[in-house]
Amino acid sequence: MEVVKTISEVRAIRQKLNGAVGFVPTMGYLHQGHLTLVKQARIENSAIIVSIYVNPTQFGPKEDFAAYPRDLDRDLGLLWGVGADIVFVPSDAEMYPPGFSSWVDVEKVTERLEGASRPGHFRGVATVVAKLFYIVQPTRAYFGQKDAQQVAVIKRMVADLNMGIEIVVVPTVRESDGLAMSSRNIYLNPEERQAATILFKALSVAKQLWQGGERDAEKIRRQMTALIQKEPLAQIDYVSIADAETLEELNSIERPAVASLAVRIGKTRLIDNMPLE
Ligand code: AMP
Repeated sequence: MEVVKTISEVRAIRQKLNGAVGFVPTMGYLHQGHLTLVKQARIENSAIIVSIYVNPTQFGPKEDFAAYPRDLDRDLGLLWGVGADIVFVPSDAEMYPPGFSSWVDVEKVTERLEGASRPGHFRGVATVVAKLFYIVQPTRAYFGQKDAQQVAVIKRMVADLNMGIEIVVVPTVRESDGLAMSSRNIYLNPEERQAATILFKALSVAKQLWQGGERDAEKIRRQMTALIQKEPLAQIDYVSIADAETLEELNSIERPAVASLAVRIGKTRLIDNMPLE
């Protein structure tokens, strides 16, 4: 496994690779969710490139950029264990040199949910992912269903800008009690960690209602909301039943949909979702 810090090193290695290249962009502090993406990429490609970069431009001024957990040595050990070939660990100066002023702005699908709660977030995400795609030039790139709106944004960008990269979506990896694995779970104290199971419980209610034939989205949103409100440590940011592709809120669920939510548990903001399709 090679660990490289500069764009020119990645380009030089990439030029020598034959066959399909799988790419997994991450912000590090890796867990089984990330490693599942790498393992799937390992099966489907002849070389695997993983990036570890906590991208400052996708964090708002009041968000957790400085506090975001980082442990490069541990991450590299885990990536070695699942057979990554190249790990790209750029610095901020490498990604955003002085004078940087070009941005990728994906419209519409970014307006709701995470986009509404975190202004500028998806501009940062789309810009850094576009840059990484141009640098790595992968055949396929792997993203987690955990970040459903991010997947929708990246797919839109790849289609609109004719990037010609296959986007592979990997199901959400969960703890045994249903909590979606996330680098941010480390922020939760034991009491909050217990309360955080309310997200999966609410999504499970949505899935059960839908499987039972309920198609009235507002009824499902109401039941999810009522359940979460019973958890004293939880504060709802949003509860959504939306079109799986456009993320537009639905009245009636007649096409592939996604139940998603953002909930604050203490000071930690958690997101999760469940496809209804
Ligand atoms: P992050 O490091 O949080 O930017 O995540 C890097 C990639 O891993 C993104 O595509 C995430 O959607 C994905 N990911 C994060 N958590 C999970 C999870 N629990 N299950 C599956 N994929 C995940």
